[in-house]
Amino acid sequence: MATTSPEKRYTPVIILLLVAALVTVIGLWAMERAGERRIGGGHAGASGDDAGGTFEWKLVTTWPKNFPGLGSGPENFARFVNEMSAGRLKVHVYGAGEIVPAFEVFDAVSQGVADAGHGAAYYWKGKIPASVFFTAVPFGLTAQEINGWLHYGGGLELWREAYAPANIIPFAGGNSGVQMAGWFNREINSVEDLKGLKMRIPGLAGEVFAAAGGTAVRIPGGELYTSLQTGVIDALEWVGPYNDLAFGFHEVAKYYYYPGWHEPGSMLELIINRDSFEALPEDLQAIVTHAARAANQDMLDEFTARNNAALRELLDRHGVQLRRLPDDVLLELYRGSEAVMQRLVQDDPMAARVYASFKAFYGGVRAYHHISEQAYINARDKVLDSQD
Ligand code: CA
Repeated sequence: MATTSPEKRYTPVIILLLVAALVTVIGLWAMERAGERRIGGGHAGASGDDAGGTFEWKLVTTWPKNFPGLGSGPENFARFVNEMSAGRLKVHVYGAGEIVPAFEVFDAVSQGVADAGHGAAYYWKGKIPASVFFTAVPFGLTAQEINGWLHYGGGLELWREAYAPANIIPFAGGNSGVQMAGWFNREINSVEDLKGLKMRIPGLAGEVFAAAGGTAVRIPGGELYTSLQTGVIDALEWVGPYNDLAFGFHEVAKYYYYPGWHEPGSMLELIINRDSFEALPEDLQAIVTHAARAANQDMLDEFTARNNAALRELLDRHGVQLRRLPDDVLLELYRGSEAVMQRLVQDDPMAARVYASFKAFYGGVRAYHHISEQAYINARDKVLDSQD
């Protein structure tokens, strides 16, 4: 009987073991791939079934329903979210007074009465002094600059920290660009002309205006026209030509002043209740984030496109007198702004931290824009004006 060598006897066993190991490795790899697909297509904290669920949000605003310009911010955000999520997250927009009055939007979102809100951060100056940096600072950043500071310069992190105790997550929600200095029923030729002038001008700028000898009045948007018409106020600032034309201020004031020293690039805010945001699966959270970013930019695009046509209409059709604030008036307002900012940051540590970040970014971007945006626009004007 022929003997079999140990090698030959064990060969089938070794082959069997190798095949079994290969099958196991392939099986594990396939399971892992399936797992990756589940994680990639589903969401942390949500099963496949939940991922198909729908959500409904209430968004309250500080603007009248269907208000052009500023009011397009929340409407666009809602539309973008509805479109991108194919209706899985439906955002319903409510104008001021429909669920809560304009100046209760922050509390409504904080307490979960609404899931989201749209307005201007500086309306909440009394609750959170640092909020003023997230709308406009007199002689501060332009729209392009504030977007840079917010998204790449540390601004957004500070804003989220400032609003965290209120259970609110803030996002940039639009920008008006440089505003107009406002409507006046008398000419401003010197600092003396500000004395005794009653003007609707909110935020830090109101304090600056008061320091320059005027009286700053806070009046809701809906009462501005009548207040100027009846002489309750002598002047007001609202936004710029596109929005101001809609209000009809040219019917009750003759002089339209620039530049908007007090609001050089006013940012609006979209605020979201943290619990509402965290209840969403990750893909809907991403849709909310990117819809906000798109709505923020879209508002600036719309103002940029429409302001000039509105200004032409005000000047050519309605005979409005366009005036530039004199340099000595601007200098006085700048000095006042510095004093007001110093007081603000002295009294509030969070405001001081935001101001430090804002100021550092401001210094750098101002120097760069001196040789880029500003240099280009100056050069363009010089060359084109020489052709006239
Ligand atoms: Ca304004």
